[in-house]
Amino acid sequence: MKRILPFAIRPVFTTRCGLKHTRPKSSSARPPQPTTSPHSPWIRVAGSVIHGRGVYARVAIPAGTRVIEYTGERITKAEARRREVQRLARASVGNDGCVTIFELNQRYDLDARDTDSPAKLINHSCAPNCRAENIRGHIWIVARCDIPAGEELTFDYGFPLSEWRLHPCRCGEPSCPGYIVNSGQRWRLRRLLRAEKRRASNSGRGSAVPQVEPAVPAGSQET
Ligand SMILES: [Zn+2]
Repeated sequence: MKRILPFAIRPVFTTRCGLKHTRPKSSSARPPQPTTSPHSPWIRVAGSVIHGRGVYARVAIPAGTRVIEYTGERITKAEARRREVQRLARASVGNDGCVTIFELNQRYDLDARDTDSPAKLINHSCAPNCRAENIRGHIWIVARCDIPAGEELTFDYGFPLSEWRLHPCRCGEPSCPGYIVNSGQRWRLRRLLRAEKRRASNSGRGSAVPQVEPAVPAGSQET
């Protein structure tokens, strides 16, 4: 399991309310210049209502801003698979099961596990206000819309449908299907959940959807 970029990155910013925003109209409208922090001047870290610790806008962030780079150790795909086995083993005994590996390209991934960058703490949301973007070989978390100060930053982790049961979602958005699955596959998940519910009611067993325990005891949501 790793975080992946969305299938298509569109140059249109959609707020969590579904309203379309555009980039700042002119370069004269300079973004505010907050005080600098070691990793990003735009953020602060605090407890999250979604999960564990989260990342918040410390000042208003204009749409299109590169908020923070997702940094980590560059590892091969084989090493990523080896670490995934280790992660699952840790998670199975209630230890840190955070997914910190991000797909970088066809040859390499990034593992943020041993970094102190707060980018790895950004939670998933089914209606995110940020997106992950690969810009010349660097993964950036970019604001999808104008984000007011104090709002928690989120992006779509892009997890595949095949592993939906492992990743319950607590983002609380009205559109949330209850599990972390990339936006392009969520309609399939909803169809699958409806089918399971029908089967359960037909067999009189109650809900057939397993109550999956969170794999992550602390830290960022399912990261
Ligand atoms: Zn959700």
